[in-house]
Parts: sequence; structure tokens; C-alpha cells
Amino acid sequence: MPSEPQAAAGRGAAEPQAAEPPPAVESLLTARLTAEVEALDAADPLRAFRDRFTLPEGVLYLDGNSLGALPAHTPERIARMVEQEWGRGLIRSWNEAGWYDLPRGLGDRIAPLVGAAAGQTVVCDSTSVNLFKVLTAALRLRPDRRVIVSELGSFPTDLYLTEGAGVGYDRRLLDRDGDTLEQLLDQDVAVVLLSHVDYRTGRLQDMAAVTELVHRHGALMVWDLCHSVGALPVRLDACEVDFAVGCSYKYLNGGPGSPAFLYAAARHHDAASQPLTGWFGHADPFAFEPGYRPADGIGRFLTGTPPLLSLAGLQAALDLWDEVDLTALRAKSLALTSLFLRLTEPLGLPSLTPQDPEQRGSQVSLRHPQAYAVMQALIERGVIGDFRAPDVLRFGFTPLYLSHAEVRDAAEALREVLVSEVWREPRFAAVAGAVT
Ligand SMILES: *Cc1c(COP(=O)(O)O)cnc(C)c1O
Repeated sequence: MPSEPQAAAGRGAAEPQAAEPPPAVESLLTARLTAEVEALDAADPLRAFRDRFTLPEGVLYLDGNSLGALPAHTPERIARMVEQEWGRGLIRSWNEAGWYDLPRGLGDRIAPLVGAAAGQTVVCDSTSVNLFKVLTAALRLRPDRRVIVSELGSFPTDLYLTEGAGVGYDRRLLDRDGDTLEQLLDQDVAVVLLSHVDYRTGRLQDMAAVTELVHRHGALMVWDLCHSVGALPVRLDACEVDFAVGCSYKYLNGGPGSPAFLYAAARHHDAASQPLTGWFGHADPFAFEPGYRPADGIGRFLTGTPPLLSLAGLQAALDLWDEVDLTALRAKSLALTSLFLRLTEPLGLPSLTPQDPEQRGSQVSLRHPQAYAVMQALIERGVIGDFRAPDVLRFGFTPLYLSHAEVRDAAEALREVLVSEVWREPRFAAVAGAVT
């Protein structure tokens, strides 16, 4: 489970804040709606993927954008690495079981999901560490420029890393209520870092247009794909993106803490240098030379020994992704989020997520003054989404293991929680805004 509820435990109950009386919305369990969602599920080209995940009975999981579900064959794959490759193969498995090649090999299996030709993507480290590497590499490619641009509402680690990588640099932060990106760009800007899909609102950026704008001002573009990879098709090469990072434990279902990926466009490989110059990124790691020489190509972005047991989980998850049609994935994602927005609209909760499908990732974020308590009441009913301070109910829609009928059931659970006002019961209370 996400850490928020545990973090809140023991904080004591807060007085429920005044919330509008609930509108008298009728039950969604109607014959007409049942027929509609059943027809949509019968026509769903991705429906067979549901059986390839293990989900607990009675749980309706809308948090795959935070921690993806367990693919059914992952335990067997991890057990095989433990028992055979490690237990019996021992050190021979670096070659015989292909361990050494996994960071590049799994990178090339993620590449089609992000629109990258082979040889530009590696799997390694965490998103945060990879951000440090690509931000520093990008800054070094623009040595005469002293400004990093990012967005105030970014996931905090992204902002923190612009501080860590940008010591001695100025920072300009885009605030959606203030300047436009174009107003922040000039000859001093070296790098722009943005999230393709915003983690809080689910807003999707126009990657092609933004990257083109940034390049017109001579800066380099770094995209964070944590909420887009596995949620919608991404076109890194076609958009001429410079660098990108993303995690594999959200929509990709690689497992808790599974390593992240890093993309660097081939045109930058020779000139790019990254700061974490460990032996895995060396041109000849087994020569044990005293000095660092970067590997050719994307390999220079590697640092140290990969976490192999975690890579086994990601390897299993990618077996599924090898089979997914991303056009069908995007169509279903939008069908699910549109259905949820439509069915919850009468409840009157303001949506942070754009109504326009072209500007929407694969989540829906609704606001409620007591969002924490409402989410706790939903979780008690088996509908797992998450809470983001101060007042956001966040629901992730994963097209591989969610049905239209489940989306209807989730909307009905939310309706019941609001209309019954069960969320006012003290056991659901927490200090609003105290949990982040
Ligand atoms: C989830 C997420 C991260 C996670 O970074 P870690 O290093 O894996 O902890 C980073 N950026 C964004 C936008 C995220 O949504």
C-alpha cells in the first residue's frame, strides 16, 4: 500500500471540514449502464491481459500509476533467477544467464514503448539518480548557458534534482498561473526539464511542440516519462527529444523499486559525459584500468552493478509489454478515464484532469475538501486509489487489467461514499494537508 495512510496513522482525528451537502445522485447500478459497460468489455481488444495479472479478490485497483500490479508469471521468473541462475549458476550467470547484458537489453525492450530506436535506452538506478545524470550531461553540452527551467508543480524529486545538478546555476520555474514557457526561454537557458504527464493533475503535454519550442531557443529538452510510459504511446525520436527518464514500477508493473530507464538521443552520445563515472559505464570494465574512459554509445550512462533480482521482475513485466498494441492501449485508457469522468460528473467534484482527451494522461484527479477521509472510506470498500495533498483524490486507470465494468463500480463506490457521507466517521479522519 502507498505510504500515505501509514504516515497518517496516529496523527489523531481532525474535525471534518465543512463540505457541501452531497447532491442526490441516483445509483449507477442500472440495467442500461450494465449493458453499456458489458458491451464495451466484450469489444475490448486488451481484455485477455487481465488474466495475466494476480490481483487480490475484492480489490478494485486504481493505483497502478503509483505501484503497478503483479504479473502472474513474475514470481516464477524471480524464483528462477534466485534458484537456478544465482543458486546454481553462481558467478557464471553474468555471462551464461545474460546478466551483464540486461541493462542494455531491457532498455531496448522499453525503447518501442517510448518511440526510441535501439541503442539509446538503458535500465539502471532510480529515476532520481538518472535525472542527476542526464541533467548534468545536458548542462555540460551547453557550457555557455547558466539557467535551468522546470515547473513549480513537478514531482518534488525532479525539482530537488535541478538543485543538486544545478549548483551554481539559476533556476526559472514555470507556474501555470503565471508565465508561459516561451516567456521563460532565452539565450541563457541550457536545459528544460518537464513531466510529460503531470503526476498530480494527469495533464499531458504536447511533447512535439514543447521540444520544438525549447530547441528554437537553443536549449536541450529532458522529459520525465514516469506517468506516460505504459500509459500512452511516446515518440521520443520523432520529437527529437534530447534526454528522458522514467520509472518501471508504475504502469510498466516491474515491481516495487524496480530500476528506472534513461534515454539519450544517439546524436549526443559522443559528446555527452555524465557525472557518475562508475565502472559499468567504462569502455572496458574488465580491463580494471586506473582511469575512466566512457563506453561508446548509451553504455556510458551506466554506473554500477545492476540490481538483478529487481531486473528479473521487470524482465517478466516486459514479456507482457512485448505483446501490447499501444494504439489500442491509448484508446482504452481514454475510454476508461472518459467513462469515469462522465459517471462522476454529477457528484460535483471539481476535476484537475483535463476534459479534452488530447491533454489527458491515464489518470483522473478530483478535488474534495476532505479528500483524505473520502479516499480512506473508498479503500475500506476495496477501491484503492490515492490521496495527494491537500485535497486530491487520484485514480489511475491501467488498461491492461481494468475493465469498463470496474470503472463503473469504482464510480458507484465513490457515489455511495459521498451520498452516505460515511467518510465523516472518525476512523477515516486525518489532518488535511498533513500527509504528503
Ligand atoms: C514516481 C516519480 C518519480 C520517482 O522517482 P524515484 O527516483 O523512482 O523515487 C520521479 N518523477 C516523477 C514525475 C514521478 O512520478
